Amino acid sequence: MSRESVLDIRSVGKRFGDMQAVADLSLIVIEGEILALLGPSGCGKTTTLRMVAGLEDPSEGEIVYDGRVVASATDGTFVPPNKRNMGIVFQSYALWPHMTVFENVAHPLKVRRFPKAEIRERVASILETVGMTGFEDRPIPELSGGQQQRVALARAVVYEPRMLLLDEPFSNLDAQLRGQMRLELRNIQRRLGMTTLFVTHDQIEALSFADRIAVMHEGRLVQVGTPEEVYRSPTSTIVRDFLGRIISSRGSVVSADKDGIDVDMPGFGGHRLHVSTAPNDISPGGSVEISIRPEDILVKTPSDVEDRANRLRAVIKALLFVGDHWECQVQMGDELLLLHLPHTEAWQEGQQVDLVFPPDSLSVWARS
Ligand code: ATP
Repeated sequence: MSRESVLDIRSVGKRFGDMQAVADLSLIVIEGEILALLGPSGCGKTTTLRMVAGLEDPSEGEIVYDGRVVASATDGTFVPPNKRNMGIVFQSYALWPHMTVFENVAHPLKVRRFPKAEIRERVASILETVGMTGFEDRPIPELSGGQQQRVALARAVVYEPRMLLLDEPFSNLDAQLRGQMRLELRNIQRRLGMTTLFVTHDQIEALSFADRIAVMHEGRLVQVGTPEEVYRSPTSTIVRDFLGRIISSRGSVVSADKDGIDVDMPGFGGHRLHVSTAPNDISPGGSVEISIRPEDILVKTPSDVEDRANRLRAVIKALLFVGDHWECQVQMGDELLLLHLPHTEAWQEGQQVDLVFPPDSLSVWARS
């Protein structure tokens, strides 16, 4: 059974004077999912979230939320933020410092005129969910950054809105706390089953936290898919280069048939690589770019004779021990590659190694 769409953004655009911040963006958010809007600074993701929240009105298109049009550039419909029933955790929606934890979290229920007993019950329950039981009477300035984030989340979800909007929710936290909060927030989101749209420029955050990622570039949506899809099968070099590390080098096609293509790689010491899948329009003589995620390259000692295809000789130029693995600079032809090697082996600078490029891990990009 297919799940219902909670939010339907239809051909939405936003102009600020001459500046087109968001252009022709269409996106559906499905019930219960976490969808990340990901992209570099200035790509239009915050503007998109603000339009969904009702903090900006679209210049083009319309937004349908929970079955009704909440904003339409065509007929001027505009439902204000407090009438949209969305929980919002934005940077600009800071907690009220003069109120206690209880008062902050109870506030959305008070303005919705919930009975006192129910307010007490709901606040207690959501504070337990976010792990803040016992902090009810604390003033906000006496909480750590992580605790404040949890209270902000509790305040956003206490009245059980259909959807949660988050803007860079972990940006105020240090790296360790960020990882922990990601897991906690994901558990809370799952428990409450709340459809979530969140904005981030951090690819690790999007990959680890979202069910689907919508990648934006210069105001446009360039790809939507699961974290695995956008990471493993990017449809453009924009997405490929934005998500994770990539090793790329130019090559010229020597043959192409149904089994794939063979490519001479001048940067890789002139070696030839076989690639199992390639776009249809690739033909012999063409110039292409070949790329691979560094973690897909297998590193072998020359005495290990398994995996003979696409096996190229290289030399370890530099090694750094970083605890759970080695960071290693490998020279192959003219290219210096940065690879992670397993900590279980004793690698040495100057050592010869063989790099295996599995044919089905390589991707081919036409060069214009
Ligand atoms: P960041 O991660 O830096 O917040 P972003 O992807 O969220 O970036 P937006 O904040 O949506 O990007 O901005 C998109 C573009 O629109 C930027 O070029 C920005 O300067 C511009 N912009 C955003 N808000 C306004 C505004 N109120 N007036 C004029 N231009 C704006």
